[in-house]
Amino acid sequence: AFLTAMLNVMERRLFFIPSFKIYGGVAGLYDYGPPGCSIKQNLTQTWRNHFILEESMLEVECPAVTPEIVLKASGHVDRFVDFMVTDVKNGDCHRADHLVEGHLETLIDDPKTSPADLSEARDLLARVGEMGAKELEEMITKYGIKAPETGHDLSPPFPFNLMFKTSIGPRGDMTGFLRPETAQGIFVNFRDLLFYNGSRLPFAAAQIGNSYRNEIAPRAGLLRVREFTQAEIEHFCNPNDKSHPKFSTIADVAPLLYSQELQLSEEKKAQRMSVGEAVGKGIIANETLAYFIGRTYLFCLKIGLNADRVRFRQHLKHEMAHYAEDCWDCEVDCSYGWVECAGLADRSAYDLTAHTNMSKVPLLAFDRYPEPRMEEVLTIIPDKRELGKLFKREANTVACALENMEEDAAMAMKAKLEGNEAVEFTVEGNTYSIAPGMVVVKKEMKKVSGKNIVPAVIEPSFGIGRLLYCVFEHSYYVRDGDDNRACFSFSPVIAPI
Ligand code: AMP
Repeated sequence: AFLTAMLNVMERRLFFIPSFKIYGGVAGLYDYGPPGCSIKQNLTQTWRNHFILEESMLEVECPAVTPEIVLKASGHVDRFVDFMVTDVKNGDCHRADHLVEGHLETLIDDPKTSPADLSEARDLLARVGEMGAKELEEMITKYGIKAPETGHDLSPPFPFNLMFKTSIGPRGDMTGFLRPETAQGIFVNFRDLLFYNGSRLPFAAAQIGNSYRNEIAPRAGLLRVREFTQAEIEHFCNPNDKSHPKFSTIADVAPLLYSQELQLSEEKKAQRMSVGEAVGKGIIANETLAYFIGRTYLFCLKIGLNADRVRFRQHLKHEMAHYAEDCWDCEVDCSYGWVECAGLADRSAYDLTAHTNMSKVPLLAFDRYPEPRMEEVLTIIPDKRELGKLFKREANTVACALENMEEDAAMAMKAKLEGNEAVEFTVEGNTYSIAPGMVVVKKEMKKVSGKNIVPAVIEPSFGIGRLLYCVFEHSYYVRDGDDNRACFSFSPVIAPI
């Protein structure tokens, strides 16, 4: 009743309008009307002030239309999928994991479920998000899950890529996608941003903009939509030093933390703890991640969310991507349960490494030692004249690849060349024969002032629409139990005046 009453007021007062309403609308697409625009604008500006301006971040604005190669590098082309099932009779599409989740939740709530089945259902529920097509199919068969409204049989689950595909230019031969997140625009600009920052780490870049996901069955109203505004921060730092210069200013901030340990405990309840204590006890992996958790919590309070209905939930081990060091979701309690409004992840060197590998442009930073020191250094010197004679126009590419060889490969090549053997060397699919004399590989002691490193990335990623929706829920009330006297008590920073 709360939800229906509030949504009625919001629709009547044009906070939002289902998009293309006179044509019947499209699921997962919404317009903001006058007060909605005003509040969204204020919330976004508050975010910009709180993060970009107060933290001196480097702001960028990149296109939503993105060439395929960028999203191939990031893994979205191959892996940004949800598993879909269709109703075998009417072709309706459903998200397989949502159906399995729904079934398990019903089972858990059913008092007739035996303790053994209950415990199995709880374990499975925690893992549904990680299940592949085969396991989801096993679940659908095991529990006899049918299509929700019709009760018809379901097809086997198959992967569905959530990106909107398009082509760039009139010839139609360059594939593009609408970006599914704003983060990639920052990663591909890393080199220029680092230079702009005086080649110094740490620094953070941020972007506010729309992202697009062709969600399979968006049924959660304003929470799961196909076009939404994201606000993302990529904080680049030395992987061996994730301390934060301003950590002391935030160490006493104490949000509800729902650590892995608490989630696996009997009570399953989040506990209030200062982020300083959480880092001290090793619950949050490092100061920078904790700093952003603290700042995010303060932001939530600033925009008017209820402090007891905001928690930070740590991803369980199996939920985390293999490269992630630690990951926390900022979840807000609303009529749909605890909803993820922001994700805060220590993504290690994954993204920059992926784009370095694909673009062949090294996305590195120079880590300067406090004092120069003597180190054994690998030196690779190709004989460019010799290479030029043999490989002509390709000589430069070969020389460049030789110079950038990993240490193991270089030492293996050195051993063969010293044994008077030629070495097969493959660059971009072409193989070249490198004979003794064409390259010198040596290790020597040198005075060095630092080394190149791939920076680690700590990423706080916010969904502006989700935060806004939760603000609506936390601000809505009716006077004296009279449904006709509905009010929103907005925080002054976002109120639409
Ligand atoms: P993700 O990249 O999936 O971690 O998403 C980052 C943030 O974007 C989430 O914390 C959400 O707040 C928001 N978000 C993701 N998907 C949607 C969606 N379909 N509709 C609205 N917001 C979304």
